[in-house]
Order: sequence, then C-alpha cells, then structure tokens
Amino acid sequence: MTLKLDINPIKAWMPNIDNPLLISGPCSLETEEQTMETARLLAKDKRVFVFRGGVWKPRTRPGSFEGVGSIGLKWLQQVREETGFPVGTEVANAQHTEEALKAGLDVLWIGARSTASPFVVQEIADVLKGTDTVVMIKNPVNPDVQLWMGAVERIYQAGIKNIVGIHRGFTPFRETKYRNYPNWKTFIELKRLLPNLPVICDPSHIAGTREYLFEISQKAFDMGMEGLMIESHRDPSCALSDAGQQLTPADLGKMLDKLVIRYENASNPEFDNQLDVLRNRIDAIDAELLEILASRVQIVKQIGEYKRDNNVTALQISRWTQLMENRVKLGKSMDVNETFVKILFQLIHEDSVRMQTEIMDQE
Ligand code: PEP
Ligand code: MN
Repeated sequence: MTLKLDINPIKAWMPNIDNPLLISGPCSLETEEQTMETARLLAKDKRVFVFRGGVWKPRTRPGSFEGVGSIGLKWLQQVREETGFPVGTEVANAQHTEEALKAGLDVLWIGARSTASPFVVQEIADVLKGTDTVVMIKNPVNPDVQLWMGAVERIYQAGIKNIVGIHRGFTPFRETKYRNYPNWKTFIELKRLLPNLPVICDPSHIAGTREYLFEISQKAFDMGMEGLMIESHRDPSCALSDAGQQLTPADLGKMLDKLVIRYENASNPEFDNQLDVLRNRIDAIDAELLEILASRVQIVKQIGEYKRDNNVTALQISRWTQLMENRVKLGKSMDVNETFVKILFQLIHEDSVRMQTEIMDQE
C-alpha cells in the first residue's frame, strides 16, 4: 500500500541546492589533519553539498578500526566552521544520537546494520523526537523493503520530516562482482510504497572497489535517484577503513565530470509531446498484447477440455521443451532478449497448465 507521508523534499532543508545532493567525506574520521585536509579539498568542488565522516564505525568483526569516537564530533564542527559544509555522521544507538545532537550535527544517518533492527531504530527515533534534524536511512543489509520502510516510519512518527533513504546495496549470499549487490527493484518498490521519500545512492558500499563507482553512480541517476553519498579520503591507500573504495577529492571531481545527470522531467514541452506520442503507442501495443493473450487463453481452454475428454495429461514435457526452444529461437531472430523470452513463456505455460488442470478437476 502506498503511504503518502508528509516527508520534505531535499530542497526544503537545502534551499540552495540544484540537484543532485552530493555527500562526500571519509569512511572514517582518523585524525584532525586527515579530516580537515579532506574537507578543504572537497570544498573546492562546488558540487559537493554535505561533508560526511564516520565517527563510530560498525565493524563486522572486532579488532578492526572502530572509529575515533566522540572527539570526531569536534572535528566535524571545525569542518563546518571552516568550509561552511553541513556535516553528518552515522548514529547506531541512543547515546550516539544524543551526542551528535548536542554537537549540533546537521545530518545523522542510520547504517545498514542498524536499519535491520527495529529496536535500534526506535531507540534512535525516541532521542530524535522534537528536533528537526535531517535523518538518512540506509537500506537494511537484506533486501527487505518492509524493514526499510518500517525504519522510515519510525523516524517519521518521531516528528522528523527531513528524511532521505540511502540505497547502499545488500549482503550477497555468494561471491559477486560488487561488495553489496544493488537490488534495484527494492529501491523501485520503496519508491512505490513511499513516493515522497527522496532516495540517494551510496555507490561506495555497493562497489567495494573504486573501479565500479562510475557505473553504479550513472545507473543511480538513470534510475532517478536524487543524489550520491561517495566516500573520499585525502590519501585512500592509507585509509583505516574501506581503503579500496575511497576516492581522492580530485578523482571524485573527475568522476563527476563524466556523469550524466538525469531529471524526472525535461521541462521542455517538445520533449513532453514526443514522450506522450510514444507512450500512447505503447498503451495501444499493450492493449493488443492483452487481446492476443486473451485469445490464447480461449484456445488453451479448448485444448484442456479436449485433453480431459480423452484422458490425456495437462502437461506434456516434450511439447513444452519443443515450444520453449522454438520461442527462444523466434525471439532471437527478432532481437528479443533470450532470458526475457524464457521467463515470459515459463509464466505463460505455467498459467496454461494451471487452467487445464482446473478444467480437468471440474469433471
Ligand atoms: C558507512 O557509510 O561508512 C557505513 C558503514 O555504511 P553501511 O551502513 O552502509 O555499511
Ligand atoms: Mn565505509
């Protein structure tokens, strides 16, 4: 069910922004110098709007760098004073949230591991009550859209209207190209359920390595996401966490130069007219497709009755194998994607068998 929550657009709390919202900064704040130097370099690029820096780091296993803790909040304040950047960090419990609010941070985000725990999200929401902080909510580690949506609702119910979703990918259950696989359909489903929620992408945690950042960022814009959170470090090779996926601010700038930014509307009447013409054609073709499917259903039913009257099974494997081979070949000759044809005819055939067994059971 679609929920029309009264969530603010990004422009409501960042009026001087021309989309997209770009957030950047180190995975972890390590020293005052590393924080300030990275921020100074980022401030040279007017496309960066918010400075991020992890202070309390959720590490999968103990023993790795767990962040500098509260001292990092002071460095974030310094960044804001010197560069004018709004600043943000990840909070993972009530105490982090209290400290971050006390330090006057502009943006707080809830990490993927925390979004997966409703108790943690509620604990954070309870502390946020009565503030007008900007809260960003990463997807949970598993592609459970309800859990992601639930976290948004908990924060919203605490009276927060400045909310942004962050798509950072999902833990893979086998070796994949990316560190966290981007299940784009979970993002699409979240937008369907919460149309007012602005969503940005975190290509750094999806990619896990620098080489994939561009393709994921471009895909995010192609899909209509409203910004990016990209990790950057003055010297990524020395980073204490996520060294392989961080960019120098200069390389971030080069990547931004290459990205094509897309908008939901072109604000160009000629484009809108042409789009309407093409969409009308698609509507007509879809109606034809459905008519063709309806006539196929009639024949499937006739065959079902015929099989029933002659005590023949609904499913004939050899016919099914032959049909699939033929359709894939035919599809290929018309330049229709093979996987698509397979999935489509699996569905069509499955439904035909269902209809025919129903006819047989009516006997
Ligand atoms: C981060 O942004 O540094 C982080 C730890 O992210 P995630 O919660 O997506 O793993
Ligand atoms: Mn990181």
